[in-house]
Order: sequence, then C-alpha cells, then structure tokens
Amino acid sequence: MKSKYADLKLNIDLNKIEEAANCIKQGGIILFPTETVYGIGANALNKNAVNKIFKAKGRASDNPLIVHICNLDMLNDLVQGIGEIEEKLINNFWPGPLTIIFNRKECVPNNVTAGLETVGIRMPSNKIAKKLIELANLPIAAPSANISGKPSGTKIEDIIDELDGKVDYILDAGMVDIGVESTVVRVVENKVHILRPGKITVEDIKKLGFDVIVEKQVMEECSPNQKVMSPGMKYRHYAPNTKCLLVYSEDENKMIEEINRQIKNIGNVLVLGRTSHLDKYNTNNKLDMGESLEDISKNIFTLLRKVDKYKVSLVIIEGVKKEELGLAIMNRLIRACEHNYIEV
Ligand code: AMP
Ligand code: MG
Repeated sequence: MKSKYADLKLNIDLNKIEEAANCIKQGGIILFPTETVYGIGANALNKNAVNKIFKAKGRASDNPLIVHICNLDMLNDLVQGIGEIEEKLINNFWPGPLTIIFNRKECVPNNVTAGLETVGIRMPSNKIAKKLIELANLPIAAPSANISGKPSGTKIEDIIDELDGKVDYILDAGMVDIGVESTVVRVVENKVHILRPGKITVEDIKKLGFDVIVEKQVMEECSPNQKVMSPGMKYRHYAPNTKCLLVYSEDENKMIEEINRQIKNIGNVLVLGRTSHLDKYNTNNKLDMGESLEDISKNIFTLLRKVDKYKVSLVIIEGVKKEELGLAIMNRLIRACEHNYIEV
C-alpha cells in the first residue's frame, strides 16, 4: 500500500502537519523534512513505533537514533543532567544542525539508544519539523530517510521508490537546506569530541573557546568489531554499486591533472567535479557538484544516487579541503568511495 502523501512545497498546510503528528501519536512512522536531510520519525518514547523505523530502513540494531525535540522541557525529560559546555552549545547552536550526546534517563527506550547509556538529541530549526514535534507534543526519534547504506534523502523524489509503503505518511517540502546530516558531538573531560562532522563546524565550536577533538574515525576506516564513540561510523554508508575514487590536492591544477590521468588509463569513467572545473576533464561523462561548499553539501547525496545509471568502470570524485563544511563533505565522500582515496 502507498504511504499517505502531503505536498507542502509551495504551501505549508498545518492540517497536514497535524495529520502527520496524529500519526506519530498513534504509533505510526512518517517521513518529514529537517534542515539537514529528511528523517523517518516515530514517537521516541514508544518502543514498538521505534522498531518500525529499524525495520523500514533495515538498520542495524546497534546503531542508535537521534531524538528530535522542540523545547528544553523535552530535553530535561530525556537526559540526566546538562553540563556547562553542553549548555553553551545549546545556547549557540539550537535550534540547528547539532546533535549532542547526553546521559539518558530510564524513560528512553533501549532500541532508541541501541542499548547505550547515552542518547543523541537535537532541536531542528526547520519550520515543518518544529511544528510537527510541537503538535505531536512528543520527542521524535528519527534517523536519515534512506535504506541503510544508501545516501541520505535530501528530496522525496530520491527516496520515494525505496520508502513508499514502508512509512504511514510523507511530508514533502522539496529540497532540504543543508544536505549533509547534523554534526554529532560528545563532551568528555571538558573537550568537545566531534563524532560526525556537519554544518556546525570544528571552527564554529572553537570560536566559543572550547577544545575540540575530531575523532579518528571521521576520516579513517574502522572495522565492525572496533569500539567507537559513534556506532554509525562502523557501517558501510553512501557507497554506490559502481567503484568510486576520491581525488584531492591542495593544488587545483594537480588534482585536475591526476583525474585526467585516471581518465586516460581507465577510459570508461564518470567525473563528479566543481562547476568551474568540468570543461577541463577529457570525458563526456561529468556531473556538476556546484561551486561552493554549500552547493556541494546540498547536491552530493542526489549525485551519488545517480552514478550507477552511467554504467562506467569508475566514478572519480573531486575532493575538497577538509576545513569548515569541507570536513563533513569529505567524511561522506570518503565513505562513498569506501576509503579509495588519493591525495596528490
Ligand atoms: P543518522 O540517524 O543516519 O543521522 O545517524 C545517527 C548518527 O548518530 C549515527 O552515526 C549514530 O552512531 C550517532 N548517534 C546517535 N546516538 C548516539 C549515541 N548515544 N552515542 C553516540 N553516537 C550516537
Ligand atoms: Mg543515516
């Protein structure tokens, strides 16, 4: 059966958001927009409803979900205490694309946290997401909207085939604003650890005067048995079926030269590059990533979903500098390429 669908692209119809909120209250699951990517949401306090998310996504049960809230009362109901640093992060970045890991209260079901004593919480800034949580008057557990392993959904057209019929309701608000998932942080011994980079950058957090540590696994490979701060880091993610290679150099010309060398050697190649570089590549198969880091962040998941249609032997993707939003982009790209990475 098809999911119920509401088109909110041109007009935010409150009645539809209320219908979706009622669905959450009744233990259903829904697809809804946030400023980062689309989420699959359920009542975070209802274990059975949360189980439906894991089933719809085919998500590993040891990969915890982020809980979305709309006010600080909800936060206090879910967590055991809010430290000084967490409080400053909240004051500076909420509502917005920052998930903070807290010690959880008993009321948070085990499947939300994948059995951990901590819970990841975020207050989204997207108007529809805010209204939905407000009307449901419940915290909403929501991972990214995609079948596990695939790129996260940044517009409904990209994910409708894999999720239609698996959720009760779809709220379609068109393309999201940011395009990569939230920054995930955990404060340990007064230092802010970045478990997953995102739109709130290392530089943004350092500006508040905090020490920031980027976890090794953000750019390095880790094995399924390895103990990591963020279980999501262990999993194959974003990778198309076609083999991908990520190429980067601080020197733009060197990067373009290396990509052209690969094209010459391999022949049947698709290149994902910045707008201003595209006409420098000696192949007809090219996709435009956009020019700014913001463009690339918005476009990258949709592009990764397109590449298998080209039936090439290799997809070569241009890297970016691992600074500011570039770190989040490179974290996603290196996973899409399954750590097949050349820096020249
Ligand atoms: P997604 O739902 O696809 O946005 O992924 C959520 C990410 O947040 C995954 O990488 C999880 O491992 C991470 N996460 C959620 N809750 C926790 C937690 N309690 N501790 C550490 N990482 C978490
Ligand atoms: Mg995800």
